[in-house]
Amino acid sequence: MPYGEYAQCPCCGKTAYGKDDIEQEFGYRNMGDGRYIPQSYCRECRSAHCEAGKPCKVK
Ligand SMILES: [Zn+2]
Repeated sequence: MPYGEYAQCPCCGKTAYGKDDIEQEFGYRNMGDGRYIPQSYCRECRSAHCEAGKPCKVK
């Protein structure tokens, strides 16, 4: 697996390996210059509106 095909949510600690898992658990963000990078927060945290520095609402 290429470097970078890994994502970890800094909020709940969820990890995903590989494009399919990352797409499913995190989703990708289009940077607008042809690059797609994993979202930093997982879908669950984003849908729960977790914020940096605050307790995770998903856990
Ligand atoms: Zn999370």
